[in-house]
Amino acid sequence: MASNASGNAPPLRASHEDPDPKGDTVLTVIPPKKTGTYTPKVLISMQDESILGTPASPQSRSPEVKASPDDLLRLDPAVRRFRVSSRHLILASGYFEQRLKGYWSEETDLKITGADPNSVGILLNIMHGRTRSVPRRVNLDQLTDLAVLVDYFQCLETVQAFGDWWMEALKPSIQNEYYLQTARWIYVSWVFRNDEIFNTVTRIAQRKGKGDMITFGIPIPPSIKSCIDRQRRLAFERVLSALQDRQKHLEDSDGCFNCSSAFLGALIKQMKSRGLYPAPNTSFGGYAFDETLDVISEFVAPTHLFNHCTVFDSGMLPSKTRDEIKYAENYVLGLRLKDFLDES
Ligand SMILES: [Zn+2]
Repeated sequence: MASNASGNAPPLRASHEDPDPKGDTVLTVIPPKKTGTYTPKVLISMQDESILGTPASPQSRSPEVKASPDDLLRLDPAVRRFRVSSRHLILASGYFEQRLKGYWSEETDLKITGADPNSVGILLNIMHGRTRSVPRRVNLDQLTDLAVLVDYFQCLETVQAFGDWWMEALKPSIQNEYYLQTARWIYVSWVFRNDEIFNTVTRIAQRKGKGDMITFGIPIPPSIKSCIDRQRRLAFERVLSALQDRQKHLEDSDGCFNCSSAFLGALIKQMKSRGLYPAPNTSFGGYAFDETLDVISEFVAPTHLFNHCTVFDSGMLPSKTRDEIKYAENYVLGLRLKDFLDES
């Protein structure tokens, strides 16, 4: 590779891989320092002022960014350069519109730091209408990377159709449990505006998550996380309050003494063995909503001693309590996308 001691960008040889071989601008994409970790975690850990190389004033540029594109390429072969058309970028992306039309309007040599060059390449091809080279399928990790970039570049409208395809192909892999992939899905379905998937995966987070939601470093908007946490807690409180009402009723019952005493004891013993008595802390850490419902449905009544009784029915929880517990499920039906569309 020819050296270029002056630090100016040398003319980039046109390549068939370039989004626009005759483009007026060269975009250099520098991957995160830790190779192979092209995750949003890397991106968000850089915080907004440096994420993806927001145009920095010359004074605040890091030594790395002062290096010429050729220097960067020599230092890290993972660095990629794309010849692009500023006109296409401006039309397709709010980010590039701002960057290319604003103070740095004379920039013809852009740098982006901390992003996966392959993912950026995919988006650039879409922005330039080179859709034949865009993969029809990506895995969820890459889709998350793409979603981070789509949100950052503000180019959803341009990429929407591909986002729909990518999600549709991956949708069958959604698991009914809460783990890293579920958090990825929440983020991806939010960025790509898929109400159905967003509702499904936020419901999984509410019902299967044990404790307040863990985001695994995925940049899920805080309002989404707090709404999931809040509704999950409300659902738990409702279940607990139904059990406590039943307990109180048995304590105060002036019906059959033997039965009410035995049912009260059985209720408290089983709540205690499941950690529901005394009442758990307010975040219900360690409890998944669905698991708790299963546990309660398995509560057993001290039946055989009391079959004679005409005052008590033999069910451990009467229908009133069961209805109240059932009602709690209304709090964990998943979120509606439209309530979170102004977040960014
Ligand atoms: Zn009785």
